[in-house]
Amino acid sequence: MSETATSNGTIAVAKPQLNQLNSDGHLRYGKMLIDGEWVEAADGKTFDAIYPGTGETIAKVASAGKEDVDRAVAAARRAFEGGDYKKMNGADRGKLLWKIADLMEQNIDELAELETLNNGKPLLESRRVDLPQSINCFRYFAGWAGKVSGQTIETDMNMRALAYTLREPVGVCGQIIPWNFPIQMATWKIAPALACGNTVVIKPAEQTSLSILRLGELMQEAGMPAGVVNIITGDGPTTGAALVAHPDVDKIAFTGSVEVGKLIMRTAADSLKKVTLELGGKSPNIIFADANIEFAAKVALSGIFFNQGQMCTAGSRILIEEAAREEFMEVLAGRAAKMVVGDPLDPKTRMGSLINEEQMNRVLGYIQKGTDEGANLLVGGERVGENGYFVTPTVFDRVKNEMTIAQEEIFGPVASVITFSDIEEAAAIANGTRFGLAAGVWTNDLKKAHLFAQKVKAGTVWVNTYNMTDNALPFGGYKDSGFGRELGQASLDAYTQIKTVLVDLN
Ligand code: ADP
Repeated sequence: MSETATSNGTIAVAKPQLNQLNSDGHLRYGKMLIDGEWVEAADGKTFDAIYPGTGETIAKVASAGKEDVDRAVAAARRAFEGGDYKKMNGADRGKLLWKIADLMEQNIDELAELETLNNGKPLLESRRVDLPQSINCFRYFAGWAGKVSGQTIETDMNMRALAYTLREPVGVCGQIIPWNFPIQMATWKIAPALACGNTVVIKPAEQTSLSILRLGELMQEAGMPAGVVNIITGDGPTTGAALVAHPDVDKIAFTGSVEVGKLIMRTAADSLKKVTLELGGKSPNIIFADANIEFAAKVALSGIFFNQGQMCTAGSRILIEEAAREEFMEVLAGRAAKMVVGDPLDPKTRMGSLINEEQMNRVLGYIQKGTDEGANLLVGGERVGENGYFVTPTVFDRVKNEMTIAQEEIFGPVASVITFSDIEEAAAIANGTRFGLAAGVWTNDLKKAHLFAQKVKAGTVWVNTYNMTDNALPFGGYKDSGFGRELGQASLDAYTQIKTVLVDLN
């Protein structure tokens, strides 16, 4: 147990109990899954996986180079064009997806611990939210396998022609995911791709490969034919870029930063790949004075502080109507000040560590900027301890929408509270960033709620709640938050293409 006394008190972080250690003292996740085999990188390169709670290295992960990416794509192509996978019908693929979900459920404690070990999020969240959602994602898409079909379409040729469409898989899908919800992001991408009959080469974020490698083992145990899902580990500029540039990849599904999203789109243009992008956000959570203010404040807290604020949907701009400001701030600030960050592996901890030192410094830099630009730092704003990357829940009051902390995605536990006086002003502020991923609106006035849902430019609008996702509901962005939808029936569009067949009956 390492303890560090700070001005914010003491944080005690237990050393992780690592089972199944290799002789070198690391977890066994040094290989990646290519063509049904667990292999090291061709050039033997590795990189460190760390436990953010203490900053210590817990695994040496294979660093895939171009040669490894080529092998993975070739395997995915072979699996797509023929072999056991091609012989599976929709029901078979559905059974496979369901089996993966069952195996994840049987191994849920281990997967949740791995997720926390590699990401620093509280075990409580990994175990109760991320894993159940991921398991259900496989089950949701198991139901779609074999049910994705085309249409017969009447034409001007009356009965002299028969026209119909076939819904076919896109082919080899390259999938690049971020570190904030590793296993969940992996399942959001793998499950619909397989339901539609595609094959996959997935690259986890370099910070968080472990739970996805374990998922790969479970997929094999479930009977996944070789080459259908390949997991290549490595960084963005080498491994990710090689996947995006590869001429034999048909589609790239990406979740991550706006900057990398743009880069991917440019590179993908050369081989005209289909691209879907789920990028950042600076989501407004708007509370009208007629709402249940206390409840709205409580949910606004989890809307920004869940996962240490490292969420693309983080409700990082809290818009409160002037008339309810005082009541709201009392609850928000009072509760935020009482939230404690703690040992991620302690089952009672509600807020854990940020992903790494770089991210922590980025967040602290934004906090400094908020103060420099004249926002009122009401709660928090500090690092806790010297081990790991813990930052206190932070609330800025009297924020102006043009300030940096209201415009840029911080990806950390920093709430910016902005005041408004009517619905028009609220809508202007809500829409006044380059992003458009999500929004929350709190009111007991039905008309106002629906009107606001129409006015706000965001891919998801929550009314009297925040951050509730469901595998059946389409998720994605407006504006710089990207395009294409994940989850729900809408995601099937991103993983299929339509072929028109016309039969001349003359
Ligand atoms: P973050 O800033 O949250 O780490 P990134 O957009 O940098 O977000 O990373 C998201 C994912 O994109 C990660 O898997 C990362 O390795 C990958 N990535 C980063 N740069 C590139 C790139 N040039 N080409 C392809 N993938 C990349």
